[in-house]
Amino acid sequence: MHIGVPKEIKNHEYRVALTPGGARELLARGHRVSVEASAGGGAGYPDDAYREAGAEIVDDVEVLWREAEAILKVKEPQAAEVARLRPGQILFTYLHLAAEETLTRGLLDSGATCIAYETITDAQGGLPLLAPMSRVAGRMAVQAGAHSLEKAQGGAGILLPGVPGVAPAKVSVIGGGVVGENAARMALGLGAEVTILDKSLARLEVLDHRYQGAIRTVYSTAETLEQAIRESDLIVGAVLVPGAAAPKLITRAMLAEMKPGSVLVDVAIDQGGCFETSRPTTHAEPSYIVDGIVHYCVANMPGAVARTSTQALTNATLPFVIALADKGWQQALADDAHFLAGLNVHAGQLTYAAVGEAFGIDA
Ligand code: NAD
Repeated sequence: MHIGVPKEIKNHEYRVALTPGGARELLARGHRVSVEASAGGGAGYPDDAYREAGAEIVDDVEVLWREAEAILKVKEPQAAEVARLRPGQILFTYLHLAAEETLTRGLLDSGATCIAYETITDAQGGLPLLAPMSRVAGRMAVQAGAHSLEKAQGGAGILLPGVPGVAPAKVSVIGGGVVGENAARMALGLGAEVTILDKSLARLEVLDHRYQGAIRTVYSTAETLEQAIRESDLIVGAVLVPGAAAPKLITRAMLAEMKPGSVLVDVAIDQGGCFETSRPTTHAEPSYIVDGIVHYCVANMPGAVARTSTQALTNATLPFVIALADKGWQQALADDAHFLAGLNVHAGQLTYAAVGEAFGIDA
């Protein structure tokens, strides 16, 4: 199969959909790989690294889209990219269609076969191509939170681990899923006193067992949340209610109960945020202060660590890309129901019910 990897054109997107190592795996199986010039630059992969792997570097992006049978991307296609898609072509990328009606209709009109990373499932009920970015965001949340606690950022001037003779900071993580567990692990590793609050007892049981009491697990209720708000130096918001906006767990009035200079990191901001005072920010200006509390609410946290994120994402996507290339999309999807769950659009037909419901289109 001829696979094309264009340079991402969404604002501030530095990841690339295939590493030179991934290209090498595909080439070894007899596939052809074309990469747009400088596509890997933002993730630290120069064109020569792809050439050495055996891939072709293509200067003209129109040629790349016209000739490739399958296009591998990171972000949802932008308008100029949708216009380049053609009937029968395969697009494999993050799509997030339920929030994007114009994009959905554009993909339907293109006649292409569009497979979304984020709706592919696994045998454990997880989303294996979403999880790597949640792991990155969770780990970054504590890095960002620790920085925000510094005086110059408006924070209380607290070092997360403390020092001998000075108590460590208290970190509470609301939502103990993929983001929350990774945030808690980082905070624990840095020597903070860590609590995870979750509404799922089953999840708390897993975490309690895994960390053997090193991380406190607390069932999330209004009462336990209020206690966490009063005591914590850093709170990470990491809740997810699938298919819904994040619940607002900390209201503006509750900020008055927090210690001045405490920090809220709202990782759930891409689902609207779980604090009332959260609004999306960018890496250029990641934090702001409301009522003396520092808020960090970057909607695209993994973008700041494009190299790590690229490697983590492509580790997860590569087995699917290989199956797609080796077997063709029909056979690859027929053989794997979890991969089939990724199919969102095919030949002008919507194939993912949740997106159809969002826009009143038959699926
Ligand atoms: P997940 O499904 O693995 O975990 C969510 C957890 O929240 C679950 O354990 C669930 O039981 C818990 N939960 C739900 N409602 C709750 C409540 N009211 N109180 C306490 N716990 C509650 O999801 P995830 O992969 O960890 O993602 C968490 C959030 O982070 C999502 O909104 C996701 O979109 C977002 N995210 C943001 C970025 C970013 O760059 N900002 C990157 C990756 C993920």
